[in-house]
Amino acid sequence: MRDERLFLAFRKYPGNRFTLPVLLGCLEEKGLSQNFRVVIAQSREEIARKVRGKDSLIGYSFMTPDFGQVREEIEWLKAHLSGKPVFLAGGSHPTGDPEGTLRMGFDFVFIGESEETFPQFLRLFLGGTPPSPNLIQAEKRPGRLLDHPPHSLEHRLFAPIEITRGCLYPCAFCQTPRIFGHTLRHRSSENVVKYLKRSIPAGYRQSKFISPNAFSYGSMNTRGPDLGKLEEFLTACQEAGLEGIHFGCYPSEVRPDWVTPEVLDLVKRYCRNRTVVLGAQTGSDSLLQKLRRGHTAEQALDAARWIRQAGFMPHVDFVFGFPGETLEDRKLSLGLIEKMIKELGAKIHAHTYMPLPMTPLFRENPSVLDPATKEALLGWEKKKKLDGWWKEQEVIARKIVKWRDQGVINCP
Ligand code: SF4
Repeated sequence: MRDERLFLAFRKYPGNRFTLPVLLGCLEEKGLSQNFRVVIAQSREEIARKVRGKDSLIGYSFMTPDFGQVREEIEWLKAHLSGKPVFLAGGSHPTGDPEGTLRMGFDFVFIGESEETFPQFLRLFLGGTPPSPNLIQAEKRPGRLLDHPPHSLEHRLFAPIEITRGCLYPCAFCQTPRIFGHTLRHRSSENVVKYLKRSIPAGYRQSKFISPNAFSYGSMNTRGPDLGKLEEFLTACQEAGLEGIHFGCYPSEVRPDWVTPEVLDLVKRYCRNRTVVLGAQTGSDSLLQKLRRGHTAEQALDAARWIRQAGFMPHVDFVFGFPGETLEDRKLSLGLIEKMIKELGAKIHAHTYMPLPMTPLFRENPSVLDPATKEALLGWEKKKKLDGWWKEQEVIARKIVKWRDQGVINCP
């Protein structure tokens, strides 16, 4: 019998590997996935080959650094696909610049969290009444806990489980609070256990979590870690059969002002990670203030020291090239890095600042890295004391500025 179901194709690439398991999991839980022939494609060519000129929905979830590639792929697919493809976009870039995303050639753009709006859209589409307008805004529900499925069991697509959304802080370079708001919404321990009990027998082996600040799990304000909630969560994960738990490390990080000897002791008792990822960002207090980070360089150093004393390796995030960053700011960052490497055996994760839509700094230009700073970063890189995509990000930042100045990336 011929399969007449509509194709629903997703372009998968490293930047959205944590999103697709969630989206497909939501479709499965709402009983919608059986209505489609789902394709998960690693390239535009694979989409074209699998969809074979049939009518299709083609989904892209992407971030601003991937803007150029996605724009080029959409143009290519429009030229190569027959049938009636309908292009759907979601993720942090479309949320930050929905109108610009429509101009890229997408037919519908999902703004904000799409765990509810995407299945609703598909139902309407199947019923022959796709929604209007084509910008689909998620309802903001600040009090609601995270309870969406984290994985796709039908496609065996897994990702670290997201345990917290939103952020209490207003860092001027970051999209997180602008997309998810300033109220913390956590996934309850019971909900994590519910999904672990389904996913572990299906092959889920990852023991990491997604959070903008892992040590804030269970908290609702800036008073610091809620050790009771954290212990309850880690115990529940262990009892559900999760082995080798990693907490406070990639793909999460922790803020310096949330690191305490007590929370590190807890992580040591329950978890297997040897590294804690710390967001220091810069060694300059005046720049930290301008960025509205809400902590000092000394707090970052103290946090790294406690991390080392607790027996972990501090893996510390630094960003270079912030708008208005001076040579003096950079010297302070390099000095702090040197101290952390020499005295605490830290490893540095270096970034170059990239302007992102929706953020207060979007319209300001990145500062250009001077040769001495680059030389210092390269020197530590050679000694394997520093990693990160800072060189690639420097190139991407220039492209984003160009797209912004040309008006192809905009933000309301
Ligand atoms: S950088 Fe971290 S602490 Fe700052 S706003 Fe973003 S998620 Fe929150």
